[in-house]
Amino acid sequence: MKKTPFLTLETARAIASEIPTPFHVYDEAGIRANARALKQAFSWNPGFREYFAVKATPNPHIIKLLHEEGCGCDCATYTELLLAEGVGITGHDVMFSSNVTPEKDMLKALEMGAYINLDDATYVEFLERLTDGKVPETVCLRYNPGGSFSLSNTIMDMPSDAKYGMTEDQMAGAISRLMQLGTKHFGVHAFLASNTTTNEYYPELAAKLFRLVVRLHNATGAHFSFVNLSGGIGVDYRPEQPKCDIAVIGEGVHMRYDQILVPAGMGDVAIFTELGRFMLAPYGHLISTVLHKKHIYREYVGLDACASDLMRPAMYGAYHHITVLGKENEILDHVYDVTGGLCENNDKFAIERSLPRIKVGDILAIHDTGAHGHAMGYNYNGKLRSAEVLLKEDGSFQLIRRAETPKDYFATLEGFGFDFNC
Ligand SMILES: *Cc1c(COP(=O)(O)O)cnc(C)c1O
Repeated sequence: MKKTPFLTLETARAIASEIPTPFHVYDEAGIRANARALKQAFSWNPGFREYFAVKATPNPHIIKLLHEEGCGCDCATYTELLLAEGVGITGHDVMFSSNVTPEKDMLKALEMGAYINLDDATYVEFLERLTDGKVPETVCLRYNPGGSFSLSNTIMDMPSDAKYGMTEDQMAGAISRLMQLGTKHFGVHAFLASNTTTNEYYPELAAKLFRLVVRLHNATGAHFSFVNLSGGIGVDYRPEQPKCDIAVIGEGVHMRYDQILVPAGMGDVAIFTELGRFMLAPYGHLISTVLHKKHIYREYVGLDACASDLMRPAMYGAYHHITVLGKENEILDHVYDVTGGLCENNDKFAIERSLPRIKVGDILAIHDTGAHGHAMGYNYNGKLRSAEVLLKEDGSFQLIRRAETPKDYFATLEGFGFDFNC
């Protein structure tokens, strides 16, 4: 399907006249509509809750907007917990899904009253020590089924190679011990495949987890209050890719719920999700201006953005669609490598991409940068992270994070004075 940007050249220019490119821009209307569609898809489950994976887009304005749509926060670190708390999100509105967890982080999550999702059975002792034996009333456990995880005979991922979660036997042991210590309710969690574009991922994962909780309930007598399907629903980065249909996904999970949990007398289990990419990726663009063109063995277009604004192409070879704003309907009769200015040859947003003829000064929209975009930014080569802008439902825009300055870059240095007339 043709990918069209959510803003026009005119809007991009209006923003750029106040906030110089490059910047990430987010589409409030799209974010809200998508969050509502997710909620609707799971409305058959009264306890349903999305805990937005804040690592995807750790901006309090975005988190607040999603909170208004009923979403909580999924945090993995001390700083992410502070971010949730800063927006006023605490208690069971927070899921703490960490691994290799420092004491300080766990203590903060406990202080906030977050749901604790334990990555390993050894964390029961850790929790017991940190709480003086007063473990939380509800605890979630992260499952690793081992082996390979397949959908329609295609291997999606290898849980046996993943560092996360624990075995079923370890879960049963952890549950028994936690019950002795006073835990009354349990949740289970698993994240078995990332960026899936099939409607079958969540239903298959749900079936696996539903059967697991039935077995664990039979083995331990524990009460399970939720199943956390975590993240993993993907987006159509490429125009020819299928798009996940959240209504179909919700119905697929519903069917497995009725087949597996309801007959087991476990029809009170809530479904939780921790989506990041699905919630935000399509509703962000990286807006960047063409600084230079060069012609050697290939044609190059050099942007004012670089991999420090969007790392996925350099890191994973990921495809991000590009639209030259104002040239949406021109024929794609030129082939360019679209690059940033890092001293790294993998700093390319696109390789041999068919695009319309591009001129210096053109403004490009790089699609699907709303999740794992700005968040993965870094400062290599002294590149400064870009601004973030919210395009509001009424058409106005708001700066929600300013661009970094050299002063920010030097702020953590000790014992050396710099003069910042820059
Ligand atoms: C990264 C992550 C998510 C979100 O994943 P997406 O692919 O962005 O949906 C959810 N839960 C945990 C524990 C994660 O690490």
